[in-house]
Amino acid sequence: MITDLLWRCPLCATNDALMQQRRLFRPPQLRCRHCGTTWQVRRVIGDDYWLKVIASPATQEQVGRDLPLAQWYARLKETVALAPIEATSVPSHPAVTLGDGERLYLASRTVRLAAEAGDPLFFGGADTDTPHDRKEMGSARVGQGRLLLTNQRLIWQGVDGRQVDFALDKLNSAYATFNVALVLLYGMRLYSVRFTQESLLKWITYFAYVAKEIKAASGHLITTSNY
Ligand SMILES: [Zn+2]
Repeated sequence: MITDLLWRCPLCATNDALMQQRRLFRPPQLRCRHCGTTWQVRRVIGDDYWLKVIASPATQEQVGRDLPLAQWYARLKETVALAPIEATSVPSHPAVTLGDGERLYLASRTVRLAAEAGDPLFFGGADTDTPHDRKEMGSARVGQGRLLLTNQRLIWQGVDGRQVDFALDKLNSAYATFNVALVLLYGMRLYSVRFTQESLLKWITYFAYVAKEIKAASGHLITTSNY
């Protein structure tokens, strides 16, 4: 899906605003729910997708601009900057309470979290076993919930009302696997998150930006996939 890559509108910079519309016997279109810009999508064999602006109510001068998908993505990236969002704007349970100087940057829709079987944060196991002992263990489903990313922690809120905090200064990496799951290495523990309702690339991008802040603030390094 083009919207996995174009996770925000490259013209009005609204997250999750683009939707792809398939049309019978006609080229597909991409439309921004926020600014109304519409692109016609065409596949160029042996090349990229090309997206041409055919309507743009707020930015008329964009109409007719025809660029490969990679260039629209490059324009999207130029719009990215960390900006706090209001905690009250996020439907979450329980309500998220931010600490002093804590800024909320991103909240997910419903995601699925898995942890290692026996993970002490979720399954009550003792955290004394070594990575070698855990070698034979598979992953186990934690359940559905929501993730919130601040400048200090990644917050898990399960649909069961349970909240678990991951301090970002203990997060070692955030990687995408096959554009399907986000894999987190927290301390020596692995977690995987499946996003079915939003772009994984959006999350990788935000992690990369937050990683720069954490590096500057504490020196701790979080490695991420390229974005
Ligand atoms: Zn837009």
